[in-house]
Amino acid sequence: MEDYETKRRAESKNALEKIKNGLATKVRILVPADACPVCRAIEGAYDFDDVPDIPPEGCSCPNGCKAFYAPVLDRFGP
Ligand SMILES: [Zn+2]
Repeated sequence: MEDYETKRRAESKNALEKIKNGLATKVRILVPADACPVCRAIEGAYDFDDVPDIPPEGCSCPNGCKAFYAPVLDRFGP
């Protein structure tokens, strides 16, 4: 699974860069319900400075990590 994980890590880094360069103020990690406990534990919204890697250290998702980054947009209203 080493290759898959390396690839996933590069892909998610890319996605994170795009989110940082967009309109988002924070980033949210979304995790499928069948993900491993390590992934479930990192689900939530983060400041750009302390976003965990995807896949996280110690991930044991049976079919590979499916967690992903999503932008948090809170620039509504004045
Ligand atoms: Zn996992």
